[in-house]
Amino acid sequence: MMVKTFKKSEWTGAVAALSGGYRVMAPVRSGEVVNFDWLENGATPDFEAKKTRLSPKQALFPQSERMFAYTLKTDDPEAGILKPVPKADSPQAVVGIRPCDAKAITLVARNFDTDEYKDPYWVSRRDNTTLIGLGCNKPGSTCFCTSVGTGPFDQSALDVLVYDLGETMMAKALTQKGEAALSKMGGVDAKAEEQSAGDTLAAEATAKVKANVPSDKLAGLSQTELFDAPFWDEVAAGCLNCGACTYSCPTCWCFDIQDEVKKGEGDRIRNWDACMSPLFTKHASGHNPRDTKSKRVRQRFMHKLKYYVDRYHDGVLCVGCGRCIDACPVNIDIRRVFELMNAYQK
Ligand code: SF4
Ligand code: SF4
Repeated sequence: MMVKTFKKSEWTGAVAALSGGYRVMAPVRSGEVVNFDWLENGATPDFEAKKTRLSPKQALFPQSERMFAYTLKTDDPEAGILKPVPKADSPQAVVGIRPCDAKAITLVARNFDTDEYKDPYWVSRRDNTTLIGLGCNKPGSTCFCTSVGTGPFDQSALDVLVYDLGETMMAKALTQKGEAALSKMGGVDAKAEEQSAGDTLAAEATAKVKANVPSDKLAGLSQTELFDAPFWDEVAAGCLNCGACTYSCPTCWCFDIQDEVKKGEGDRIRNWDACMSPLFTKHASGHNPRDTKSKRVRQRFMHKLKYYVDRYHDGVLCVGCGRCIDACPVNIDIRRVFELMNAYQK
């Protein structure tokens, strides 16, 4: 597979060269906040930022998305008929995605792309997306990716992995999709010593992730006993139900579908939603099966660390990015909940 290097000063130009064949998303700074955004609006990418506030899940699962349009005007013969809204399904590239966020896409696929059900919007975008990842030289203090089956230079979910070697950026194609994208970016063939420096960098960065978050006993525990565990009220005590943890999480996939009508013209829209919101489970009857914040916080952690574990038998629904820890205004820390759940004995 192709491995190319670029002078650091040429990297942004190499990314810009992709725009001939791809819609490109990359980290973009706005004041103190860095988030992924499409570069077509003239934004300048920032590849120095350590962690974006939100994950780049919006590349496949936009925060808000029109699905259908319709008219309710009674003099229109097509009144009330849902019409699909045209979608941009051209190739797109997410440049600078971190390996944990790419890994999250493979977990989220279990919701959107199954044998029984395929979400056409998500699947189409996934098929059209090339993931050009950037390894994490300096994992953050809240990162615990190595505890949950991924890591700062994990290649498993990427099409290209980029190493920031200081003066140069080295890009290694990992798939055919990655090779096709990399071939548009220029660069020169990487030397053996550069590839060796990349391997050393990856090993050192992996060793820097200090957190050792336990999950080894989760599969063997009883769902009902964990559900009834006495610690949920204490875990949830400070929660504001703000949803920052869920919206910032690369593995949270919940959404709500609403109809918005203005002057007789309607749109059916899908929006991110959050299990931390009291409205999320409120029935039309007014009954709410998760009517307390303790029940909602329990649901979030039980889904990630127990229901998912029992259903798929290959780990937790979390890639250890630490964003929910960074975002929570009352310092609710999923690493502590891992410990509480993993160690629980009735
Ligand atoms: S639960 Fe928290 S640490 Fe895990 S993937 Fe989501 S935001 Fe990251
Ligand atoms: S970010 Fe913290 S306070 Fe907000 S909903 Fe999540 S756990 Fe609750």
